[in-house]
Amino acid sequence: MKTQNPAACRRCGTCCRKGGPSFHLSDKDIPESGKIPLSALYTIREGELARDNVRGYLHPQPSDIIKIKGRENAATCIFFSETDRSCTVYDFRPLECRVLNCRDTREIEKIYAENRLGRRELLGKIPGLWDLVQAHQQQCDYREILPALRELKGGKRKISGRLGEIVHCDMLIREQVRERSGNKEDINDFLFGRPLQTTLRPLGLHIRKEGEKIFIRTVF
Ligand code: SF4
Repeated sequence: MKTQNPAACRRCGTCCRKGGPSFHLSDKDIPESGKIPLSALYTIREGELARDNVRGYLHPQPSDIIKIKGRENAATCIFFSETDRSCTVYDFRPLECRVLNCRDTREIEKIYAENRLGRRELLGKIPGLWDLVQAHQQQCDYREILPALRELKGGKRKISGRLGEIVHCDMLIREQVRERSGNKEDINDFLFGRPLQTTLRPLGLHIRKEGEKIFIRTVF
């Protein structure tokens, strides 16, 4: 009589609903070959606050993390099919998905923070595009943004000062790339990370553009 391996995956889908995986250097071929398109990815940029899922706390990231996007208003990986609780990119799912076992996390803990794939490995040899990504990273650096947030007071006001310049710059670069790329798939979240309107919202900052003016409302 067959005995079921107690550690085998039961395909409950819980891990896929908690969020898409991060990419490692050994996954480089997956986006490069287009098996998973860049429009399905986003970057957590160097310096951005993000949760370390192994240690369980938020901290500024020492380097880029490239991840598969989640569904709108949910963490669930966009490649998870609720219909039959399956992975629609199973044959080329990234390393983290291959080693993750929710009932024995030792393997994922070993590789989790090691050899992460960054934008440099994928774009570094594309002059022009890589220059643009670097320019955005320098001009919209979280190492400047996060300390600037501490200076903010409550209420709604027109955004100004260095934080205002950074938010303007982040919006402008995305708009320009979107315009230039015409009808091609939107890869802004991969190139420049998620917009500051999205990443700063959980920190209590609501950013809204009204005409040419940008307003910020703080909810601390
Ligand atoms: S890529 Fe596949 S296995 Fe990995 S989280 Fe997404 S649906 Fe799950």
